[in-house]
Amino acid sequence: MPGRFSRRILVVEGDITTQPVDAIVNAANETLLGGGGVDGAIHRAAGPELKEECRMLGGCRAGEVKITRGYHLPAQYVIHTVGPVWRGGQHGEDELLASCYRQALDLARSRGLKTIAFPAISTGAYGFPLARAAVIAVRTVLECLSRSQEITRVVLVCHGDRAFHLFQDAVTELFSEYDGREDRNNAAPGEPASAWQEGGLGEQARAEIQIIEVIHGIRIVNKERLVDEIVRHARTRQHMSRITAALNSWVAIKGIVGETEIPDDELDRIMTGIDK
Ligand code: ADP
Repeated sequence: MPGRFSRRILVVEGDITTQPVDAIVNAANETLLGGGGVDGAIHRAAGPELKEECRMLGGCRAGEVKITRGYHLPAQYVIHTVGPVWRGGQHGEDELLASCYRQALDLARSRGLKTIAFPAISTGAYGFPLARAAVIAVRTVLECLSRSQEITRVVLVCHGDRAFHLFQDAVTELFSEYDGREDRNNAAPGEPASAWQEGGLGEQARAEIQIIEVIHGIRIVNKERLVDEIVRHARTRQHMSRITAALNSWVAIKGIVGETEIPDDELDRIMTGIDK
C-alpha cells in the first residue's frame, strides 16, 4: 500500500475497513442506520451488531460525531460522523466538513485513543469536490495535531488513485497558502482563519516549519536559525513557501525522526536548489 508522510499523518490508498487503528471514522448519513459507499463497507465488515448499536444512538447531525464499538473490524471503535451535502459551497459546507474531522479527533482524544483513520468524508454520494475536501481535511487534521500530542497517528485513507494524489497535493498546498491571499478577503467563504495566514515573513516561516514538525512528528531544534536564514533568502512569500515545501520533502526523504538539527549546508543546498 503506497503511503507518504509516514509519521503522524499518513496518506494511503486503500480500504478503511482493514486499517489496524484504534478507531476508524465512518462517513454516515443522519439516521446512522446504514447506507452505501464507505458506510456500507464498514457495516458489512463490522457485522450486524454494529447496526444494532447504531439504532440506539438516535441519529447524528451534520458536522457531529457518535461512537460505537468496532465488532468484527480490526479497529476497536467506529466514530460515525455525517458530512455536509455539497450544495455549491455557500451553505457552510467547508466549516461543517472541518467540524467532522475536528470533532472526531476531539472525541478520540477524550477516549484516550491514539490512532485513527478517516475516509474522504462527503466526497462520494454527498458530492463535495475532492480537491477542496482534501485541503480542508489535511489542514484541519494538522491544526488539531499541532494543538495536542496525544494522538500519535492519523491515517487518511483514499479510495482510488485520484483521491490519493489529491490528498498528497493538499499537504504540499499548505505551504503555498499565501499565494494570492495577501488580502484576507480573498479567502474562500467559510474558510477558517489559519495562524499561518497572518503576520510577517518570520511568522510565515515559523508557521510553515511548525507544519513540517507536525506532519513528521519531529522537533527541529534550530528552528529560529532556520527562520532567520529563510527570511534572509526568500524574495517573496511565494518563494518562501517553495523553500519550506522543499524542506518538507527533504525531511520526508531522509526519514528524519525525533529531535533534529537541520545543518546550515543542507538548508543552503535546498534553497539554492529551488532557485535553479
Ligand atoms: P459521503 O456520503 O460522505 O459522500 P461516501 O461513502 O459516498 O460518503 O463516500 C465517501 C468517500 O469514501 C468517497 O471518496 C469514497 O470513494 C470513499 N470510500 C468508499 N468506500 C471506501 C472504503 N472501503 N474505504 C475507504 N474509502 C471508501
